[in-house]
Amino acid sequence: MWDLLLTGTAGGRAIAVEGDRIAWAGPEAALPPEAASVRHRWPVHGRLVTPGLIDCHTHLVFGGDRSAEWEQRLAGASYEEIAAAGGGIRATVAATRAAPEADLLAGAVQRASALAAGGVTTVEVKSGYGLDLDTELRMLRVARRLADHVPVDVVTTFLGAHTPPPEFAGDPDAYVDFVCDEVLPAVAAEGLADAVDGFCEAIAFSAEQIDRVLAAAARLGLPVKLHADQLTDGGGAALAARHRALSADHLEHASPAGIAALAAAGTVAVLLPGAAYVLGDETAPPVDALRREGVPMAVATDCNPGTSPLVSLPLAMHLACTRFGLSVDEALAGVTTNAARALGLAGEAGVIAPGARADLVVWDAERPAQIVYWLGAAPVHAVIRRGRPLTG
Ligand SMILES: [Zn+2]
Repeated sequence: MWDLLLTGTAGGRAIAVEGDRIAWAGPEAALPPEAASVRHRWPVHGRLVTPGLIDCHTHLVFGGDRSAEWEQRLAGASYEEIAAAGGGIRATVAATRAAPEADLLAGAVQRASALAAGGVTTVEVKSGYGLDLDTELRMLRVARRLADHVPVDVVTTFLGAHTPPPEFAGDPDAYVDFVCDEVLPAVAAEGLADAVDGFCEAIAFSAEQIDRVLAAAARLGLPVKLHADQLTDGGGAALAARHRALSADHLEHASPAGIAALAAAGTVAVLLPGAAYVLGDETAPPVDALRREGVPMAVATDCNPGTSPLVSLPLAMHLACTRFGLSVDEALAGVTTNAARALGLAGEAGVIAPGARADLVVWDAERPAQIVYWLGAAPVHAVIRRGRPLTG
């Protein structure tokens, strides 16, 4: 027997839920006889219902606070000056290493709760501010525990190859060895990561170094994704494609050949307009080329303390439209079907279809544009997670 039947959704559709799965979805006029004996009937009076939103790229577990650094930038300080004064990512690494697990969890709960309030039911969380064995493991444990405190499903990603830590300054190759030989196997042994990521960029790691990390992930049976071509064209898109990555993320400077390779590999392009906005970077990713080649586009917050202190996925959708030129429908697909695919969850989440997880958002809206339009408010009416109504 169906547990729940949403009727009267925008466009005259109905959605049935059984247990934690979608059981049926279609025009209300075509409802099968089971509808007569449903346990719970919920008329939504013409409201739009979408899949629960998926934030497929975040760094929301971290210690410390970088707001003072942002303030210095407002006053004209350059990145170089801030880094020379001990700021930047190194400040976050030091603060994260020093933070007790309970503190890391409390901060992460706050940020994930803000995302959930904006309609997010699945969130990806990366490590990458520990850069040593203990802290990387601690970050991923915190990410796993997040789902006990916030009504979201969490997908974890090991990002040990984020930046070379101070102990390995001047010898990134030795750090890559350490990641491949010690940290990644420990992470895999504890089952703490659902995927492995790297930062392929002149200021982080070369394509050759990241190649080794992704190969090590493959040996452990873990899918991969990549921070690619954000600041320069470092061949990241092609490298991601060669490893059949789930996603290549950022891509502001990806080359036409890199885009074509992503299309051939079926890799999702994850667009992160929050970072471009905060950095004042006018370079948009090559959205026309991605469309032309048929590369699926996802949109995420990139929530992180340095370049994207963004905790609203609808606001990320807004920025993807206004700064990167996505249509509203593309932005919505970017936080549902395509975001699911970027996490290896195609068919499981991000879609309203029989068999998929019953994660749904009922909006105080009739059309997707009414979600994306607002800056700083998400018209969430109610959220259903794994078949259970959370609010409304
Ligand atoms: Zn990132």
